[in-house]
Amino acid sequence: MADARRFRGPVDLHTHSSVSDGTETPAELVRSAARAGLGAVALTDHDSTAGWDAAAAEAVRSGVTVIPGMELSTRIEFASVHMLGYLFDPTDEALVAETERIRAGRMRRAEDMVRRIAEDYDITWDDVMAQASDGATVGRPHIADALVARGLASDRSAAFAGILHWRSGYFQPHYAPDPLTGVRLIRGAGGVPVLAHPATSSRGSVIPEERLRRLVDAGLFGLELDHRENRTEGVETLRALARRFGLAVTGSSDYHGSGKPNRLGENTTDPAVVDRMIEDATGAAPFYAS
Ligand code: AMP
Ligand code: FE
Ligand code: FE
Ligand code: ZN
Repeated sequence: MADARRFRGPVDLHTHSSVSDGTETPAELVRSAARAGLGAVALTDHDSTAGWDAAAAEAVRSGVTVIPGMELSTRIEFASVHMLGYLFDPTDEALVAETERIRAGRMRRAEDMVRRIAEDYDITWDDVMAQASDGATVGRPHIADALVARGLASDRSAAFAGILHWRSGYFQPHYAPDPLTGVRLIRGAGGVPVLAHPATSSRGSVIPEERLRRLVDAGLFGLELDHRENRTEGVETLRALARRFGLAVTGSSDYHGSGKPNRLGENTTDPAVVDRMIEDATGAAPFYAS
């Protein structure tokens, strides 16, 4: 397969643009990937594929292959679980309908949170909208940016540690399907599902073995184990489970531009795993640089 490989250089499989909560446009992000020396980069905005075309247009110009993807919001009770999907058909009706439902739910939830925060702090919904690009998937990062602009937090991380923390009293969850539905939707659209940063939880393991087994049976392809927010203990357990279940292991940065300290290419994925992902997918092909 190596002879057929059409990208050269490290692969980062998880990044965000201004289509969700990253700070760079999709085109800027691809140019940043080129500067970082990447051979391929996946664009995985939250619950949206709106950046695919602009990123694709930049692939040849920048010499970086773009792997189209998305980070689908799912949830188990109150814990959010992120499901990366790669190389799926972006027009698949079921997936499009579900992502629209999630984005609408995120918008209502952000409005509710801002209403509550505004009872105690000087902040408006317009402040938040001013931080999100048109049509962007709205999330706590945009509320964080509005708090920073008002001088109510020093940066996004401080806002997340304070007013936006899930225990702050202002937090509210948003609608999201369960992870099993997420895997089925992504596979149903010809895509390849990978469980994002599965060992980040500070509230105990959200993916017990039995649940993981059901995701694998439904077509889960891999686990994103090389990610700065995963906890070492959890990763060791999950690495063993990945071997047992025949799951691929991926590594990525979860780059958000200046919105997070994560740097492009700080974790990368074995190109052989990327080859398998491309072979497995039937919904879309990468946008090759050459
Ligand atoms: P939400 O999905 O609206 O609940 O917001 C969660 C998102 O905020 C995650 O996808 C992260 O990208 C981002 N995030 C979480 N913690 C931080 C942090 N400390 N600093 C910046 N962004 C964060
Ligand atoms: Fe994010
Ligand atoms: Fe995530
Ligand atoms: Zn992410």
